[in-house]
Amino acid sequence: MSPEEIKKQEEMVNAMCICKSCPTYKAYGKKDDYIAYCFPTHGKSKNLAEHGCICGTCPVYEKMRFVTAYYCTRDVEMKQKTAIAEAAWKGHSVWDHLKGKKP
Ligand code: SF4
Ligand code: SF4
Repeated sequence: MSPEEIKKQEEMVNAMCICKSCPTYKAYGKKDDYIAYCFPTHGKSKNLAEHGCICGTCPVYEKMRFVTAYYCTRDVEMKQKTAIAEAAWKGHSVWDHLKGKKP
């Protein structure tokens, strides 16, 4: 995919994203640096803590057939899926993998 195509995709996902209506985003109380945390070049925010996630009701979520959530605190879908698989394989908690506590 060309940089122009990625930029176009990013703009589309930003426009469809409902993060600003989410309790986690609202709890922060001000504008974050970016939204659409699920987008591959976005990922985790340094500013948010979990207060509920409404990604499951977002059109992007349905279109992309996502299964995880909390992209703002747990990173993009692929990284979460990798962490889940690694945690299961090593017998660790998924949370430790996502937080980087366990290799
Ligand atoms: S799935 Fe979540 S992070 Fe991604 S665009 Fe929708 S609301 Fe935003
Ligand atoms: S990624 Fe999920 S939890 Fe985070 S702000 Fe968006 S909807 Fe809320």
